[in-house]
Amino acid sequence: AAMREQRIKKTKTVCTYCGVGCSFDVWTKGREILKVDPQIDAPANGISTCIKGKFGWDFVNTEERLTKPLIREGDVFREASWDEAYNLIASKFTEIKEKNGAQALTFISSSKCTNEESYLMQKLARGVIGTNNIDNCSRYCQTPATMGLFRTVGHGGDSGSIKDIEKSELVIVIGSNTSESHPVLATRVKRSHKLHNQKLIVADLRKHEMAERADLFIQPRAGSDLVWLSAVTKYILDKGLADHDFLQKHVNGLDTFTENLEKFTLDYAEKVTGLSQDTLIQLAKTISQSKSVCVLWAMGVTQHMGGSDTSTAISNLLLVTGNYGREGVGSYPLRGHNNVQGASDFGSMPDRLPSYEKVADIKVREKYEKAWGVKIPEEPGLNNHEMVQGIHDGHVKAMYLKGEDMGIVDSNINHVHAAYEKLEFFVVQDLFLTRTAQFADVVLPASPSLEKEGTFTNTERRIQRLYQVLEPLGDSKPDWEIIRDIANRLGAGWDYKHPSDIMEEAAQLAPLFAGVSYERLEGYKSLQWPVAEDGTDTPILFKDGFPFEDKKARLFPVNWTEPVEFGEEYDIHVNNGRLLEHFHEGNMTYQSEGITSKTPNTFLEISPELAKERGLKDGTLVRLSSPYGSVKVHCLITNRVKGKEVYLPMNDSGEAAINLLTSSYSDKDTDTPAYKETSAKLEILMEE
Ligand code: SF4
Repeated sequence: AAMREQRIKKTKTVCTYCGVGCSFDVWTKGREILKVDPQIDAPANGISTCIKGKFGWDFVNTEERLTKPLIREGDVFREASWDEAYNLIASKFTEIKEKNGAQALTFISSSKCTNEESYLMQKLARGVIGTNNIDNCSRYCQTPATMGLFRTVGHGGDSGSIKDIEKSELVIVIGSNTSESHPVLATRVKRSHKLHNQKLIVADLRKHEMAERADLFIQPRAGSDLVWLSAVTKYILDKGLADHDFLQKHVNGLDTFTENLEKFTLDYAEKVTGLSQDTLIQLAKTISQSKSVCVLWAMGVTQHMGGSDTSTAISNLLLVTGNYGREGVGSYPLRGHNNVQGASDFGSMPDRLPSYEKVADIKVREKYEKAWGVKIPEEPGLNNHEMVQGIHDGHVKAMYLKGEDMGIVDSNINHVHAAYEKLEFFVVQDLFLTRTAQFADVVLPASPSLEKEGTFTNTERRIQRLYQVLEPLGDSKPDWEIIRDIANRLGAGWDYKHPSDIMEEAAQLAPLFAGVSYERLEGYKSLQWPVAEDGTDTPILFKDGFPFEDKKARLFPVNWTEPVEFGEEYDIHVNNGRLLEHFHEGNMTYQSEGITSKTPNTFLEISPELAKERGLKDGTLVRLSSPYGSVKVHCLITNRVKGKEVYLPMNDSGEAAINLLTSSYSDKDTDTPAYKETSAKLEILMEE
């Protein structure tokens, strides 16, 4: 028995799925995962996890894992040694840089990778190649939220902590299917709603579980959230219901802001949103009368042409009602991937270095140039969206992409695939031969979170350590080692031996992480940025004012952008999002038998009205077509959607992949795809 016990070990890790950032012990024997054991000390989740954190780990040992580098030869891949793969990458990068300049190369970091890996990827792009063409997948989800917060309050992260939401008197959830996308966080909200009389308002197109529980559920027309938010804000100001004391002490720009609100009358808002004036007044009164309000929002807000503006409108409303800088209040953009927050925090952005310091700022550039001994270009680089366009236009020649299946998750994927075909050199680093990797010239086998050390930052800005549970499978390697090795083949001379060396360097350069160290993050210890040099962290932002020179926040005037029209024949509005059981395109969760047996395929949710009008039944096979492509999927009749609103979950990478339908329209301020502004026509197909 003693022998057997010796072989069993327990290691602390952080979940690889969503941005809640649950941490837990993993019990293993060899490569076998015996159980996932959440601990009371875990700061975000305590003893809870959801189905994905508990059972979603089979992908680590699946035969689908890549275990050797692959090099393309004609239409097929052949296995190669690391040496051969590295040499090929170094020589192609050098050749393309010499021929076309550094700006012809592009880099995409992953929100599934660690902070240290994001830091290294941007350092490779900027410091070794000499381009700011570096981005990450928050461009597909949360960049508009970050933009809205930068404009108004100056820090692009949740303003409080997850457990702090429990102290709120009123929680407003906008465009977030929280129960399925952030399950453990949703449980906390549900509990305080039930036990502590917390009020809950939900705004969504779809009557999901949170909506069922809400005290008030509103269904504004698709893409019209900015209008009701602004009308409610105007009403609060007009009727003297605002927090004038807070506004006077802590906020700038009230006059211009109020002037711009003029057009958002109740009458106008009713016409645009479909919400009655009574409902709008009720919202205004409930919000202004609540002592503490926090707003949770997600992709239903951000993935629109005006995603940044709507995020800004949320923050404006919170400022007008004095809901920043204390317990139980503030803004909570809910980050999707486990490290979507950290990928941007650590500089994988075309216009920002780590800590969100601007590339355009000469002092910031000089700091990094001195530390790295390189020259950083002054011009911001291309974002993901511009990279794809750049390939089509012919000035982008190479891409190094790690840990993102962009060929499925980007919008208008037919257009994206056509771009990949044109790339002169494409390196994809991932766990599996993904849809995207199939276009690559070199595929590098990476290791998942269980096979490496590092840190992740969850949605509440909490930095947590993960420890290595298993050895890398086959010849796969942690991403940070691969990036380091490639940089060194290009002559960088990087000497990192462990991710802690990388964090030490980042902490010296990036003010938000000044006091972050692996010692301070030992075990279940964690830190929420900004972290001062002495290790003091910040569970609640803005207690001592806002990070602007005069310490005041700014009200930022915004206007409504009408959603994209696809044309009259495309009469069905296609909403999309997640399911509880699967994560995104399902690359990892489809490997788990426990999960797949529950939810084997995707389906199209349709309303009883639409079913009746078109003669559709549960299981009817239909084709949805947009101007960009079409999908085939089976129907499921449900009361969660109404009228011509349908819902297509995003966990399919085949014939029902949502991004065969989506367009290349994007948020005008950040280029985040307007995924949620998608329409299609529907026809019934005969089963073959
Ligand atoms: Fe993982 Fe999110 Fe589930 Fe927690 S709630 S176990 S972080 S997927």
